[in-house]
Amino acid sequence: MALVNEHFLKLADNYLFSDIAKKVNAYKVTHPKAKVISLGIGDVTRPLPQAVLEAMHKAVDEMGKAETFRGYGPEQGYSFLTEAIIKNDYATRGISLDNNEVFINDGAKSDTGNIGDILRHDNSVGVTDPIYPVYIDSNVMAGRAGTLEGNRWSNIVYIPCTAENDFVPDLPSRRIDILYLCFPNNPTGTTLSKEHLKTWVNYALANDVLILYDAAYERYIRDPKIPHSIYEIRGAKKVAIEFRSFSKTAGFTGVRCGYTVVPKELNGFTLAGKKIALNHLWNRRQTTKFNGTSYITQRGAEAVFSPEGAAQVKENIDYYMANARLLKKGLEDCGMKVFGGDNAPYLWMQTPDRISSWKFFDQLLYNVAIVGTPGVGFGPSGEGYFRFTAFGSRENTEEALERFRKWI
Ligand SMILES: *Cc1c(COP(=O)(O)O)cnc(C)c1O
Repeated sequence: MALVNEHFLKLADNYLFSDIAKKVNAYKVTHPKAKVISLGIGDVTRPLPQAVLEAMHKAVDEMGKAETFRGYGPEQGYSFLTEAIIKNDYATRGISLDNNEVFINDGAKSDTGNIGDILRHDNSVGVTDPIYPVYIDSNVMAGRAGTLEGNRWSNIVYIPCTAENDFVPDLPSRRIDILYLCFPNNPTGTTLSKEHLKTWVNYALANDVLILYDAAYERYIRDPKIPHSIYEIRGAKKVAIEFRSFSKTAGFTGVRCGYTVVPKELNGFTLAGKKIALNHLWNRRQTTKFNGTSYITQRGAEAVFSPEGAAQVKENIDYYMANARLLKKGLEDCGMKVFGGDNAPYLWMQTPDRISSWKFFDQLLYNVAIVGTPGVGFGPSGEGYFRFTAFGSRENTEEALERFRKWI
């Protein structure tokens, strides 16, 4: 008899975005002529940069000839890519990393979920709230979240980020072993200053907390004072793993490539208190459970760092960020309270009169056929907020604003 992992049974079946899809489909059935505009998607819409395409075409051709064919590559990724990452993403910010501290993967979602493999089931977990749902759900699966009480898991420490604290998380009052931070943040679109991030790194250093830092949106940062990497803070290599992705930065959501940085000086502990290098454990995990990202994909990712690639990536991000500015100004002109959007492709709006975020979702859909994401779907502190994304086309963004203006 195969016994199942019963922790899975604690998870709700319906996932936020399938709930939304159901509601939108029901609306479309009763309003077949309406043109629905989605400002809800967390997926990019601009095609891959030309430089990436060319590199991938070339790699495909190499795979077709015996002399240049490649089979299994290193599980950790090819050094041409890890070297390009270190040189362009880290050395430029004064951070030195070794080749074997960077692990190429098939996207940040996989590794933010998989990292729990090397951590005991009874660590206590802290998350800023609201948050990317993968962090909590993957801990539920591992039995690390406890039981669901109302809309909170008993062994998860929720650290609110709301307008009341300017979206800067306060240090937790309860002891945590593992902390997820994501900045620029999905869903709030807000960032942490260097001073605030330093507070967290120092807290982690003083309390032996492991920080899992998700920097999937770092390329959207416009303000030169905001840190792109947690390793810009002194001492962070002793406490933090950093996740990054080519998905939102270079349009790789369908291609799949990201990377995880596990510094060699970062330790976890055995129950008896012995220090264990997490880099070693993660390498061991990857070499058993992962067989590398495809060569073609890694050549495409490498091209993101070529002068042409970098310019094309910047053009796409500028396009999204122009949408973000347009949306933010337009919504504010309508009297809305809007946060984020300055250094991230997400806008976080307070619902009018703080009505529930699902109620506002229905109103927006049925009055003006616009789809967004209810804030409460990202955690209890998201109630009373609504997420818009800047990933739509300019035309749709403008039309959505026009409809919103007329309605409000
Ligand atoms: C989109 C996103 C990712 C990236 O996911 P991939 O698996 O790399 O496509 C990671 N973290 C957050 C918070 C995201 O929104």
